[in-house]
Amino acid sequence: MNAIPINIETKGKVFLVGAGPGDPDLITVRGLRLIREAEVIVYDRLANAELLSEAHPGSEKIYVGKTGGRPSISQEQINSILTREARKGKNVVRLKGGDPFVFGRGGEELEVLASEGISCEVVPGISSSVAAAAFAGIPLTHRDYSSSFTVITGHAIHEDAFPQKWQCLAHCETLVILMGLRKLPDISRKLIENGRSASTPVAVIEKASYGSQKKVIGTLEDIAEKAKQLSTPATIVIGEVVNLSKTLDWYNPESLREQAETAKLLSAISF
Ligand code: SAH
Repeated sequence: MNAIPINIETKGKVFLVGAGPGDPDLITVRGLRLIREAEVIVYDRLANAELLSEAHPGSEKIYVGKTGGRPSISQEQINSILTREARKGKNVVRLKGGDPFVFGRGGEELEVLASEGISCEVVPGISSSVAAAAFAGIPLTHRDYSSSFTVITGHAIHEDAFPQKWQCLAHCETLVILMGLRKLPDISRKLIENGRSASTPVAVIEKASYGSQKKVIGTLEDIAEKAKQLSTPATIVIGEVVNLSKTLDWYNPESLREQAETAKLLSAISF
């Protein structure tokens, strides 16, 4: 394997590393190497803390995620921690859930570090926007059903950048929504109002790739009600490809076996 050399300079460097969606095995080889060599690790709530057991025992680990009830640390504070540690000459891993550049504020952090003249490197991660679908047995594209997918945040649903936005979104083939669980009733309503069929299949995947993963399938009409018992982090997938989840649910072999049994029974009946 031709690994990209990790040049840890004495003057300090920040590595923005994507940790993947949850299962610690889903980090990249390079991300893991950097964690093992880091002197400081600044990590988020969505980066699986199990990855920290790979770190050097002498490394410093700084948690900057939200902690139940308490106000979360601000982006400015995170930026100044990164700047401060790099200035001390440390090699710093900034570990983020999924991919650092997909709704991860990686761009903002990189802007600050670059403007401070601190050397940086980005190590992409597997984003939950693709992993959640994969772990639910939903191919985001499929030659029979969808030739494109669009990823949006459900967080700022009422802050429409342009008025036609929901008309466009209603006509996307596969739509993937992060941070949208609480806004699911509004999102479904807006898509239907803008022309998407109420019977469009929808999947909500909670804690994708973790042992405790949950998946709920419904339609635009009933998904908000059906997904009420789910909690965050959760990813929403909307579009015809969701129907494939019934037969391609590889992560839940029990349901695949049931499908196969039903198919066998049905073919026996039809003879
Ligand atoms: N940078 C991250 C996204 C951060 S925004 C990435 O690329 O994955 C946080 C949102 O990501 C959550 O609200 C949720 O919508 C989604 N998410 C993160 N981890 C997830 C997981 N294991 N399962 C399902 N959704 C997840």
